[in-house]
Amino acid sequence: MTEIIETYSPEETEALGKRLAQESSAGQVFTLIGDLGVGKTVFTQGFAIGLDIDEAICSPTFTIVQIYDTGRLPFYHFDVYRIGDIEEMDEIGYEDYIYGDGVSLIEWANLIEEILPEHYTKVTIEKNLEKGFDYRKITVESI
Ligand code: ADP
Ligand code: MG
Repeated sequence: MTEIIETYSPEETEALGKRLAQESSAGQVFTLIGDLGVGKTVFTQGFAIGLDIDEAICSPTFTIVQIYDTGRLPFYHFDVYRIGDIEEMDEIGYEDYIYGDGVSLIEWANLIEEILPEHYTKVTIEKNLEKGFDYRKITVESI
């Protein structure tokens, strides 16, 4: 199943993240793909709001995973952009998170394609400058 959502402001992208999080359940994994500056952090901030997490989301770039325990479900926010070797994922306990009781969201998941779970929700954000500077096409696919 694929859903395509077009947004024209950061608020709309945030609202989509919020809705998907509200609809999410324990153990669900989301991947988030898109170039720098496309709106991944905006989406993720909305996602956290949708889980009733009231903290600001900071980029987990240097820790790979950031854990938020104050929401409706535990939230495991991964950013694997700087991953050197796939074995680093084992070292941080990747499988315990993605097969655990929380909701996982993995930025730059294309870099760890071979260890993604069998089923996940793939979110891809793309710009199209012909449609305006603030336009984003967001594709949500069930894999
Ligand atoms: P990333 O995390 O993918 O590098 P950010 O979320 O940090 O990107 O930044 C996205 C930037 O694009 C923000 O400055 C945001 O205000 C802007 N922006 C403009 N239009 C949109 C939109 N429709 N959706 C998301 N962000 C948008
Ligand atoms: Mg970001």
